[in-house]
Amino acid sequence: MTPSATILYIEDDEASRSLVQRLLRAAGYEVLIAGRALDGIDLARRHPPHLILTDINLPDLSGRELAVRLRTEPALAGVPIVALTAQSHAFERHMTLAAGVSGYITKPLDVAAFPSQIAAYLAGRTEALDEAAREPAQRAYNQELVERLEAQVRELEAHNRDLRRLDRIKDDFIQLTAHELRTPLTTVYGYSRLAQSSPAIERVVAEDAEVRALLTGLIDSVERLHAVVNEIITVARLASGRVDLKISPLDLAQIMGRVVADYRPAADQRRLTVSFDPDQWPRRMEGDAALLELALSNLLGNAIKYTPDGGHITLRAEYPQPGRVRLSVQDSGIGIDPDEQRFIFDRFYVAGDTQLHSTSKTAFRGGGLGLGLAICRGVVEAHGGAIWVHSPGCDPARLPGSTFYVELPLRREQRSP
Ligand code: ADP
Repeated sequence: MTPSATILYIEDDEASRSLVQRLLRAAGYEVLIAGRALDGIDLARRHPPHLILTDINLPDLSGRELAVRLRTEPALAGVPIVALTAQSHAFERHMTLAAGVSGYITKPLDVAAFPSQIAAYLAGRTEALDEAAREPAQRAYNQELVERLEAQVRELEAHNRDLRRLDRIKDDFIQLTAHELRTPLTTVYGYSRLAQSSPAIERVVAEDAEVRALLTGLIDSVERLHAVVNEIITVARLASGRVDLKISPLDLAQIMGRVVADYRPAADQRRLTVSFDPDQWPRRMEGDAALLELALSNLLGNAIKYTPDGGHITLRAEYPQPGRVRLSVQDSGIGIDPDEQRFIFDRFYVAGDTQLHSTSKTAFRGGGLGLGLAICRGVVEAHGGAIWVHSPGCDPARLPGSTFYVELPLRREQRSP
C-alpha cells in the first residue's frame, strides 16, 4: 500500500460513493470525489491523482470515454484508471479495457479484498486484453461512441428548435406589447406636447416652481418612454425584415449636421468636442433619410455616452471606392472589449459594466436597452451597407476609444449583393 497516494473516485451514485470513500480512507488513501466525468477530468488536471477509480455509467461521458480522454493528456496518460462497475459481462469488460482502462472491478464490492486490489493497481498491475478479443471489443466501442454522438446531436438539434421557437415567441411578445403601449402613449405624449405649448399652463409654470418641476419631470419621462417604445418597434421591424425603406435623394451632410446640433447641448455640458466637417460628407445620395438619421444619431449618442467629460469625438466621411461612402464615428471613450465586439450589434446586448465611466447613462434619452446598435445594423444592412467597430479594448482608466464604421452605397442600384 502507498499510504500517501491520492485516489480520484468518479461516481454519481451517492451510496456507492460513501461506501468506497469510507473503505479507501480507512486504508489510508486520500480521496478526491467527482459526480460527473467532466468534473473528474477538471479535478484530475488540477490535482493529478495516483489512481483514478471510475464508474462506467456516468451522467455525461461514460467511464470508457473518460479513459480515452485522459490517455491523451501527457500529465495523466500514465495514471492507472480502474473501472468499478456493475457491468459484469465479459464483452463490456473487453470494451472497457480496449478504451485504455487498466483494471476492472465488478460490483458488488468484495469489501475485504478491495484495499489489496487497489494496492495492486497502484503498484502497476494492469489487466491485459488478449489479441483475439481486442478487435471486436474496439469495434463495439467505436459503435457505442457513434451511437451516443448521434443521440446527442439529435438532442441538441431538438433543443435548438425549442430555443428558436421560444425566441420567436419572445420577439412576438415584445412587439405586441410595444404596439399595445404605443396607442395610449401617443395620446399621453400628444397631451404633454399640448401642455408645453398651452399659454395658460405656461403662465402657471412661470409663476410656480413646484408645478414647473412636476411638469418637466412628467414630460421628460413621457418622452423617454415614447422614445423607448418607438425604439423597440423600430428594432422589431428591422429584425423581421419587414422594413419598407422610403428611398429618396438626400443630403447626408445636412442630416449629420442636424444630429450634431441635436447633441450640441449634451456635448457642451460635458465639455466634449465634436469635429465634423460637412464638406467631407455626401450632399447627394439615395436612402431613407429618417432611418439614416436615426442610425447616425444612435452612433453619436453612444460616442457621447461612453466618453468621459472633456473627450473628443470625430466624424469622418471617406470614399474607399467609387459609389460608396465610409462614415466613421471615433471617440476617446472607454472602448469595447474585443470579446464583446461581435455581440454589441445584437438586440438587447449591453456590454460590460456601463456604470464604470463618469457619465450617467440615464442622463441621455433612449439609451440603456441595448437596442441602439441593433437599429444601426438593421438600417445599414437594409440599405445594402455594412457596419463594424474597431477598438483596442475596454479600459475606463486609459480610455482607448472606439471607432464605428458605416459603409453605404451612394445610389440604390449600387447595393452590394
Ligand atoms: P445601449 O442602448 O445600451 O447604449 P447599444 O446597442 O447602443 O445599447 O450599445 C450596446 C453596447 O455597446 C452598450 O451597452 C455599450 O456597452 C457598447 N457601446 C456602444 N457604443 C459604444 C462606444 N462608443 N464606446 C464604448 N462602448 C460602446
